[in-house]
Amino acid sequence: MEAIPGKDLVTLRRLHAVAGVVYLLWWFAVELLLPNYYNPLSSRLSVVGFFALALGLSYFSQRVKNHLGPLLYVGVWLLTAHFFYLLYRNGGDSNWIIGAFITVMAINYCFLSEPALLLYSGFVLALSVAATLLLPSLSHSIFLPGLLTIVLQANIGMHTRLKALRALAESNEQFQLLFNATFEGVLVHENRRIVNANESLAKMVGISRQDLVGKDILDIVYPADRASAAEKIGLADQTPYETRGLGANGRSIDIEVRAKNFTDGNKQVRLVTVQPIGDRKKMEQERISSRSLAENIRVRDEFISIASHELKTPLTSLKLRNQILERDLKKITGENYPAAKMREFVTITSRQIDRLSQLVESMLDVSKIALGKLQFALAPVDLVAVVTETLSMLRTQAEERGSPVSLQAPPSLLVRGDTSRLSQVMENLLTNALKYGDGKPIQVIISTEGPAALLQVIDHGIGISPEYLDKIFERFERAISSKNISGLGLGLYITRQIVAAHGGTISVASELGSGSTFSVTIPLDSASRANS
Ligand code: ADP
Repeated sequence: MEAIPGKDLVTLRRLHAVAGVVYLLWWFAVELLLPNYYNPLSSRLSVVGFFALALGLSYFSQRVKNHLGPLLYVGVWLLTAHFFYLLYRNGGDSNWIIGAFITVMAINYCFLSEPALLLYSGFVLALSVAATLLLPSLSHSIFLPGLLTIVLQANIGMHTRLKALRALAESNEQFQLLFNATFEGVLVHENRRIVNANESLAKMVGISRQDLVGKDILDIVYPADRASAAEKIGLADQTPYETRGLGANGRSIDIEVRAKNFTDGNKQVRLVTVQPIGDRKKMEQERISSRSLAENIRVRDEFISIASHELKTPLTSLKLRNQILERDLKKITGENYPAAKMREFVTITSRQIDRLSQLVESMLDVSKIALGKLQFALAPVDLVAVVTETLSMLRTQAEERGSPVSLQAPPSLLVRGDTSRLSQVMENLLTNALKYGDGKPIQVIISTEGPAALLQVIDHGIGISPEYLDKIFERFERAISSKNISGLGLGLYITRQIVAAHGGTISVASELGSGSTFSVTIPLDSASRANS
C-alpha cells in the first residue's frame, strides 16, 4: 500500500483519537444518566483500546501508519458491533436504539467513499437482523439504525457530491475566465473535432464560440495550408509551426500554432494555442524588402556605371572611325579611295559592332534569367565539336593576345545539351582565359568524369584571390577593377546558369599570379553513357 500523504495522516490520527475519547466519555454519560443499565467499562475499554493502539503504533510502525485508514474502518465496525452487544445485553431498551442512531450518524461521517459506506450499511443491517432474531420483541424498531444508515448515507453522498460539483464549477469558472482572457486563441480538439474554443479564437476567425464547437479544426485553416496542417496533427507534433488561419470573409491570417496532446479522462485530446503573427511578419517583410531594395539600387547603379563605360568604348571608336570616314569622303574623288584602308575600316567597325552586340546579348540573357525565360533545346550534342568550333572562332583573338590554345580531347563525346548555349559557355571561359591569361598558353581538356563530360579551361595568367572565388559566379561581380580589364561581370553568371540548366556543375581553382582552372561538367547523353 502507498504511504498516506501528510495531511490525510493527521486527519486519520485525529479521527482515531476522537473515536477513542468520545466512546470512553460515553461510558461516563451512560453511567450518570442510566445508572442501572448493563455498561461494563472493561468491554468498552477494549474498543477504545483498539483506537488508542492503532494511533500509538502509527508513530512506531510504518505498516500501521500506512494502514491507518483501513484500521479506522475496522475500529468503527468493532464499535458498532459492541454497541449492538450492549443493546442486546440491555434487552433492546429504546435508549440504546437512540444510542445506535447516534453511533450510526457519527460513524457515517468517517466513511467518505461510497463502497465503504455500502459495506458498512450491510454490516449494520446484518447486526440488526441478528439482534431481531435474539430479541424478537425488537422486531418493530431494530431496523431503524440500518434504515437511518442508508438515509444518512444518501444524504452524505449527495452533500459530498454537491460540494465536489460546486468546487468543480468554481474551478471551471476560473478556468473559463482565464481561457477567455488570454490574448492567444486557444482550442481543444478531439480527433480534429473542436470541443472547446476561447473568445480570442472566436474573434480571430470570426465564428462564435458555440459555432466553433463541433467543427473540424481544418475548417479554420486557410485552404492552401490544410494538407500540411493535417500532417502536423497526424504526427502529434509539438514543435511550434507557422501557417495561415481562415479569417472572416475568407481572408488569410498569419498564425503561429503550438499544440500538445493530453489525456482527458479516457479521451485523447489536443490543446492548441494560436498566436496571430501578422504584424511580426509584416515588419520582417518590410525589413527584408527595404534591405533588398537598397541592395538592388546599389547593384543597379554599379551596373549602370559599368555598362555605360563598356558601351561607350566601342561607340567612341565607331564615332571616331565615322568622323575620319566623313572627312576622307570629302577628299576622295570616285574610286581613288584605297581598298586596303577601306578594308581596315570595315574590319575595325564590325569588330566594335560585334562587341556592342555581345554586350547587349549578355544583358538580354541576364534579364531572361531573372525572368526565368532563358530557353534551352536539349538534344545529343558532340561537345568536342562544339569546343573545336569555338576555338577556331576565337583563333584570331588568341593570336592577337599571343596565347597559344591547345586542345586535348577524345574524337567525340556526346552530351545532352543545347549547342548554341554550350558554345556560349566555351566562348565565355575561353574569352576570360584570353583576357586574364597574361598572354600565356591556354589548355582546353575534355574528358569524362563518371556519368558526365568534364571540360577544363586552364590558363596561367593573373589568377583570382581566394576571397573572390565564390563571388565571381554572381551577377556583376568582378575580381578586378574595371579600369584594368574591361567586362560587365556577367559572363560567369550566365555560364553558371547555363551549366545548371544542363544539370551540370562549374567550379574554379585558382592562385593569384599563377593562373586559373575552370572545370565544367555536363551530363553525358545516355547513348555515350551506355558505351563508356
Ligand atoms: P567579366 O569578365 O566581364 O568581368 P565574368 O563574369 O566573365 O565577367 O568574370 C567575373 C570576374 O571573374 C572577372 O571580372 C575576373 O575578375 C574574374 N575572372 C574570370 N575568369 C578569370 C580568369 N580566367 N582568370 C582570372 N580571373 C578571372
